[in-house]
Amino acid sequence: MVNLRKYVIGVNTQVPTNGVKQRYINLDNAASTPPFESVLAAVDEFVPWYSSVHRGNGFKSRFSTELYEEARRIVGRFFGANPDEYVVIFGKNTTEAINKLSYRLQLKKNDIVLISHLEHHSNDLPWRARATVKRIGLTPEGGVDQAHFSSLLEQYAGRIRLVAISGASNVTGHIPDIDWFARKAHEAGAQILVDCAQLAARRSIRVGSLQDKGHLDYIAISGHKMYAPFGAGALIARRDIFARGEPEYKGGGTIMLVTPSIIDWAAAPDSEEAGSPNVVGVVALARAIKILEHIGMNTIAGHEAALTRYALTRLKEVPDLVVYGEVEPSYITDRAGVISFAIGKMPAHLVAAILGYEWSIGVRSGCFCAQSYIMALLGLDRSAQRRIRYNVLHQRHDLVPGMVRISFGLYNTQDEIDVLIKALTAISRGQHDKYTVDKATGYYTPLNTTEDFSAIFNI
Ligand code: PMP
Repeated sequence: MVNLRKYVIGVNTQVPTNGVKQRYINLDNAASTPPFESVLAAVDEFVPWYSSVHRGNGFKSRFSTELYEEARRIVGRFFGANPDEYVVIFGKNTTEAINKLSYRLQLKKNDIVLISHLEHHSNDLPWRARATVKRIGLTPEGGVDQAHFSSLLEQYAGRIRLVAISGASNVTGHIPDIDWFARKAHEAGAQILVDCAQLAARRSIRVGSLQDKGHLDYIAISGHKMYAPFGAGALIARRDIFARGEPEYKGGGTIMLVTPSIIDWAAAPDSEEAGSPNVVGVVALARAIKILEHIGMNTIAGHEAALTRYALTRLKEVPDLVVYGEVEPSYITDRAGVISFAIGKMPAHLVAAILGYEWSIGVRSGCFCAQSYIMALLGLDRSAQRRIRYNVLHQRHDLVPGMVRISFGLYNTQDEIDVLIKALTAISRGQHDKYTVDKATGYYTPLNTTEDFSAIFNI
């Protein structure tokens, strides 16, 4: 197994655990990754030269502008985006990118957007707000059901404007066959958006050429899931769709001309990057991409597949543990290193708290901003959903079901999985401290715990 730890900051951080210090094991990379060492170095080196972009004539402004635009080229090239056909629009994150697109497409309420049932809320709610959303159902293993997709294409022929689908699930790691979905969408006269929040740092993604039926019209990414947590993300979009029209956010930088009676809007990217952009974050994102290229996406995918296969195999040893989604280790090359599970009837937040407080293992618990998917995987019908709603509205998050999620970064190791399995086995046998639950949040803390974060870092 390759060792890629040297590329990442903080992999050996010791954290206080039960009165002693232990090396932190971060298995929550689907939420956010730590920065590459080189990304932090790039930020450090660049910051003395930083100045506002696009507006100044001073050396630092010219320099910063050049770097900002160079970053745009680096991001575009990484996804195989021909600048004649595609524009890279910088923003905060995937959520902003998808919202931006949802505005720009000028959908009518009667237009149909097909999303899959496994989508993150960020690739669901923006569409519900602007169009009629229809959901592609799930296979028994929790994947996107291609046969159902085909039948929806027929059923709503002529009305489907967009297929909006995840490149990889942040719950089960399922990776839909994007090329297949793109071809089918285009044959049906629709466009396709791929939410690449999870996929971008895990697999090579090419948007292709607009002439090719398998091209991707739009992809959305987040730097903080690509080893560049400095607040930048991007929408890579068809240039023609963003060439004209009124931007959602209006202000400095978005226009060609303004008089008291005239507004001439600029084309993208300017029209879509209102106000002063996050130049430092964008530089960090571009450097992260260079490091991903340097390591090689095939190496990353191979390492992730080996870790995931090992984890799925060993998770079988833990008594009462149930993995959701595809559990067959031989399918591993087709899925991302994201695994969600439950241990018997133990609340997910309790399992996560024990891992965090007693074992220095960082995982996520709950519904991971994909509540519809979680409910489907747990087999919760409408009446169960109504009960959950009642509990949520009555401040009883402790009664809301969820899962525990582990997700690998390129720096995780087999040894870390061994520690996880040891911890989960102990938890499953009831070997842990006593905890108290906050009913309003659903989160657990050990009895008699106080934490002094000021001893570690102060702003
Ligand atoms: N889509 C998926 C699949 C995700 O995993 C996430 C983040 N968990 C998002 C969208 C939203 O990303 P961000 O919070 O960076 O906007």
